[in-house]
Amino acid sequence: MENVIIIGSGPAGLTAAIYAARANLKPILIAGMERGGQVTLTNDLENYPGFPDGLGGFEMYQLFEKQAQKFGTEVVYDVVTEVDLTGEVKTVKTSDKEYQSKVVIIATGSTPKKLDVPGEKEFTGKGVSYCATCDGFFFTDKHVAVIGGGNSAIDEGLFLTRFAKKVSIIHRRDQLRADAILRDRALNHEKIELIWDTVVEEIKGKESVSELVLKNVKTNETSTFPIDGIFIFIGHYPNVDLFDGQIDLESDTNTIKTNHRTHTNQTGVFACGDVQDSIYRQAITAAGSGCQAAMEAEKYVAELEGKVYPAKK
Ligand SMILES: Cc1cc2nc3c(=O)[nH]c(=O)nc-3n(C[C@H](O)[C@H](O)[C@H](O)COP(=O)(O)OP(=O)(O)OC[C@H]3O[C@@H](n4cnc5c(N)ncnc54)[C@H](O)[C@@H]3O)c2cc1C
Repeated sequence: MENVIIIGSGPAGLTAAIYAARANLKPILIAGMERGGQVTLTNDLENYPGFPDGLGGFEMYQLFEKQAQKFGTEVVYDVVTEVDLTGEVKTVKTSDKEYQSKVVIIATGSTPKKLDVPGEKEFTGKGVSYCATCDGFFFTDKHVAVIGGGNSAIDEGLFLTRFAKKVSIIHRRDQLRADAILRDRALNHEKIELIWDTVVEEIKGKESVSELVLKNVKTNETSTFPIDGIFIFIGHYPNVDLFDGQIDLESDTNTIKTNHRTHTNQTGVFACGDVQDSIYRQAITAAGSGCQAAMEAEKYVAELEGKVYPAKK
């Protein structure tokens, strides 16, 4: 019987591992297919405290993992395929092993929805971004495109006007889904232009993005559009399929429902990072909630073992 199994090796999972290991819980962390999580998709993290010169996402992952292992975390390079989180003893299956644990910490993150067009993958981190807070600064005085028409696209588009000289919001419909207040701000903003009924067919460039191929969905006309960067905000998929029917989700965002102390609806199961956060989605907030989850786990295990509330003699 393990004390704690952590699912996911992004900032949330690895921070939970550091804290759980330092609490002598000997955690097992199952890394999943994307070792290091979403941060490894970026070469420049400039907003993580403690690194004034910035650091690469993969480098950050290696440092986090080293620190977790130093205190006794066992990192398993496998994927969780099945879980049973409903009883006091939790079962976690990977492709070749089955674990039993007192606690499970879910840190499976989320995946930004992709346009799935040629050039998107190739230029991710080289002009293609899914996070204005993370990358907006790199586009100071540049012309950027924002794809999407919902609240997050408009909100992020407005945020980008702080840096970019021009923001072109490209939307496949002829009206925005975003709330009226955001809509009005965007429509009246001097740096923002709206391009309606249009989809991106291809992202082109050499070292970095320099051009989009656009198609008007009403006329079927295609055109090229010179651009310095493209921010894609068409939604996120929280990675929750594994927990279907066992863990309650938020109805609007599909993120895992937790209380302010990372507890899910199942006793002994905690969730942290982007899988339970539809708002901030940053490495630092993921790491912060990973810390919370591990501290809650420690308390829970101690309670189970009767350390906190020993039976009266
Ligand atoms: C391109 C890009 C650039 C970014 N830049 C910045 C930035 O500059 N600064 C910043 O603060 N934030 C940035 N972010 C956001 C940041 O990366 C995320 O907020 C953060 O990684 C979330 O951490 P997490 O641990 O919650 O989840 P994730 O990083 O998404 O990690 C999820 C983990 O779960 C694992 N997993 C999923 N399913 C399973 C399974 N079945 N079994 C086992 N493991 C599983 C995956 O392998 C992965 O390791 C960026 C995001 C992107 C996409």
